[in-house]
Amino acid sequence: MKVFIVSDLEGVSGITKEGQTEGGAPMYEESRRLYTEEINAAVRGAKAAGASEIVVMDCHGAGKEWDFNSLIPELLEEACDFVVQDEWTEYTAFLESGVDAALFVGMHAMAGTRHGVMNHTVSGQAWQNLWFNGVLVGETGINAALCGTWGCPVLMVTGDDAACDEACELLGQSLVTVAVKRGFGAQSARNIAPLRARGMIEEGARRALASLSAVDPYLPGSPCEIQVEYKNTRAPDVLRHRQGVERVSDRMIVSRAETWWDAWRQFFF
Ligand SMILES: [Zn+2]
Repeated sequence: MKVFIVSDLEGVSGITKEGQTEGGAPMYEESRRLYTEEINAAVRGAKAAGASEIVVMDCHGAGKEWDFNSLIPELLEEACDFVVQDEWTEYTAFLESGVDAALFVGMHAMAGTRHGVMNHTVSGQAWQNLWFNGVLVGETGINAALCGTWGCPVLMVTGDDAACDEACELLGQSLVTVAVKRGFGAQSARNIAPLRARGMIEEGARRALASLSAVDPYLPGSPCEIQVEYKNTRAPDVLRHRQGVERVSDRMIVSRAETWWDAWRQFFF
């Protein structure tokens, strides 16, 4: 069994404020440890469930050389490989080779979610809303669509309770979720102690991987229309002449293609 662990930093227990997620900031090193240990819990759960190959892909843009590079290599469980990418959604080789299941660890809710700890979509500064064929989605939707492109279902999502609710709404109630904190503001939360949260994630991963067909791979539909509302006019200025991309208003673009992946990569990279 091949398992893909896709992860972000904002949904980890003990990480509540934006300053904890920025590479080089005083509390970032602690966040990396908390993050790596939640990943380790998922790796242990996957291994206990019988995984023979486990690849971890960090999707947190921490800035500079920390971009998609927040895990602490020497603390990682031996059973996994980990990917460091230059651009988000760049690494697809493992999915292309055929993966049985994906586990999403440390997710946050989409931009505009009340009580979603550090809620944002892709970029807090530049992006406001994102739709796949008319469905409002966040980063769980993006990562799920990436996995779904190669037929890989998402079986577990961990993060704050807002991220878990969002994931269930998109992927269905058979999804295993593990809420490690409850937000009551964008930078306020009641956290479950990390040691206990890790036990919950390990158990959740094992349980999720016990039924590989519990959740269908997520496919936004074909043909696919991706609509992005930005917070300012800069990205639409740059993207307006791209093939397949239409600027539909001052701050909004639509990217159209036969598949989600084609619609995504023709404007995102
Ligand atoms: Zn992040």
